[in-house]
Amino acid sequence: MDNEKKRSASFSKGILQSGELYQYVLETNVYPREPELLKELRDMTAIHPRAIMATAPDAGQLIAMLLKLINAKRTIEVGVFTGYSLLLTALTIPEDGKIVAIDMNREAYEMGLPVIRKAGVENKIEFIESEALPVLDQLLEDPENENGFDFAFIDADKINYWKYHERLMKLVKVGGIVVYDNTLWAGSVAMPEECTPEILREGRQRTLEFNKLLAADPRVEISLAPLGDGITICRLKQRVTMATIFIQMFGLGLSAASSVG
Ligand code: SAH
Ligand code: CA
Repeated sequence: MDNEKKRSASFSKGILQSGELYQYVLETNVYPREPELLKELRDMTAIHPRAIMATAPDAGQLIAMLLKLINAKRTIEVGVFTGYSLLLTALTIPEDGKIVAIDMNREAYEMGLPVIRKAGVENKIEFIESEALPVLDQLLEDPENENGFDFAFIDADKINYWKYHERLMKLVKVGGIVVYDNTLWAGSVAMPEECTPEILREGRQRTLEFNKLLAADPRVEISLAPLGDGITICRLKQRVTMATIFIQMFGLGLSAASSVG
């Protein structure tokens, strides 16, 4: 039994840590299916000094799959950079779909914009140059936006992830999906603090707190997929009212009591 446990532990470790396996997935399943213009944007981004920030293509493929599965039409994107995940979303949602895309810096977006135009999908994008939090608050001021979005991809400003989450729980409809990027924070979430490079420490702490809060949030179903730098997929299953909190607490109390009995 112990050996079996060890075998399965090293097996799963192998999957996550093998560069060859990752290359295999990219070459057989991801790159051949990547739309031509998305590849062009990825190649163009590769020369950017902060190219590492772009969404990993295999994570992008999963995001496109999620968008298709739920027939997403109205989406939110926080953190555009040169637009890899934005173009991917714009290519995936239907002709009359709309993306509210927010980034406090327009410069990198300008770099990707010619490719987005070439793809003929600029009409689906409303780019807002701003800090994301006030824009989400502004969206909430219009009651039409409440439950108005099918999907959101959050990939900026990890410090505010929980604040984004609170807003997104009102903006996204039940059955809708929110994806959070970088939830493994370069693997540092599993490192002891003293072994974590200084540059990762604050982000590691924030990510640990965020992941813990999310794992305890009864409003969502979650799956942390170890693609790219870790993407957490949340499906909004219910809005929380005082009644649901009460039922949940009462339910938990009952199951604790029955497991004791
Ligand atoms: N999704 C992108 C990568 C985003 S990188 C892709 O697929 O390529 C993170 C981006 O978030 C950067 O462009 C940065 O300008 C932006 N950003 C950082 N803090 C922000 C904030 N508080 N509000 C809005 N955008 C922010
Ligand atoms: Ca990212």
